[in-house]
Amino acid sequence: MKSIKNVNVTGKRILLRVDFNISFAEDGKTIADDFRIKAVLPTLEWLMQQGAKTIIMSHLGRPGGKEEQLSLKPIAKYLSKFIKRDVPLLEGAVGDEIEEDVLGIGNGCFAMLENLRFNEGEKKNDPAFAKKLARLGEIYVNDAFGVCHRAHASIDAITKFLPSFAGPLLEEETSVLSGVVKKPNPPFVLVIGGAKIETKLPVIKNLLKNASKVLVGGAIANTFHAARGLKTAASKIEKEFIPAALSILRSGKIILPSDVVASPNPHGRKKIVFRDVAKVQSGEMILDIGPKTIDRFSDIIKKAGTVVWNGPMGLFEIDAFAHGTESVAKAVAKCRAYKVVGGGDTVIIIKKLSLDDAFNHVSTGGGAMLEFLGGKKLPGLVALEI
Ligand code: ADP
Ligand code: MG
Repeated sequence: MKSIKNVNVTGKRILLRVDFNISFAEDGKTIADDFRIKAVLPTLEWLMQQGAKTIIMSHLGRPGGKEEQLSLKPIAKYLSKFIKRDVPLLEGAVGDEIEEDVLGIGNGCFAMLENLRFNEGEKKNDPAFAKKLARLGEIYVNDAFGVCHRAHASIDAITKFLPSFAGPLLEEETSVLSGVVKKPNPPFVLVIGGAKIETKLPVIKNLLKNASKVLVGGAIANTFHAARGLKTAASKIEKEFIPAALSILRSGKIILPSDVVASPNPHGRKKIVFRDVAKVQSGEMILDIGPKTIDRFSDIIKKAGTVVWNGPMGLFEIDAFAHGTESVAKAVAKCRAYKVVGGGDTVIIIKKLSLDDAFNHVSTGGGAMLEFLGGKKLPGLVALEI
């Protein structure tokens, strides 16, 4: 992968793709989670020090066209406070006026393009749109790991029109993640939970060879229980993945919850019981891992050389079902292994518990991280390797 760090960027217009697809508080204005912004600050500082003219570009949300509430304005404002530099938000992403605007950027200064997805061409990976974007800069830098699983114009097509390089964050993400895939320090323990088993099974399959154990919790564990022939009652399961779960179970490395927290409803207000997993009653839903499972998982984590964790152990949004996830988070944070964590919801938990400093790496990629760990070739990375 070609690193921007080896390029002389002084006085050059750098078109920098970042992932500022962040979440806002209920007012729609206050930034709820600045993790992805903070993650690229070192890149921005470096470009500033080198005297580059940086044009920052990102998408935000899923606009149908131009939607005022998905403008990058609050992000540009927020960012300017961090880097102590003005970050003017331009009125669009392409066109004559924007081309003129970017010519006015001074050395060591910044400008930000408006939400890329206001333009149809972005998601369509349209070469014509990419070409227009490319006119703005002299060098393209991809520092948006979280978007690399998407073949979009600012990630893929643009690399056909400009000398293209990987940014420091992208390099760090790929080197850490390929390290744990290829050469984990043994014993390697994968902790995986959450929902959408379709996105998680490839990760388990791909890491199984080097893993000594795979600890499975969350809703995806229910599908494994069903595959073992247990009654999962009203729990969330994904039937069509039972055969795939069965074949993974044959590895003998999968550790499933032996006890669970169950309830007839997911609101956490009444009839919450601890049960042996084989004794879940009809009408009940499995909503968290139980105390015996927490102990067993923690014990295995304690002895690990490498831990990769993705996905909550239960319905953590409800306090009554957050204990399993929080206990596992603490166990991973405390263990002496090389530890990597990622996933949109998983990172929220880490931040809430202020445990981020305890991890060797907190990935900015949700879907992108899962696809990378699952062994898929990400379009954004393929594009850079030309
Ligand atoms: P991540 O974003 O970290 O990859 P996922 O998106 O896969 O995680 O999963 C998170 C979601 O899974 C959360 O909304 C959580 O409530 C849900 N979940 C986890 N365990 C259960 C369960 N036992 N029953 C229902 N939902 C669950
Ligand atoms: Mg999620």
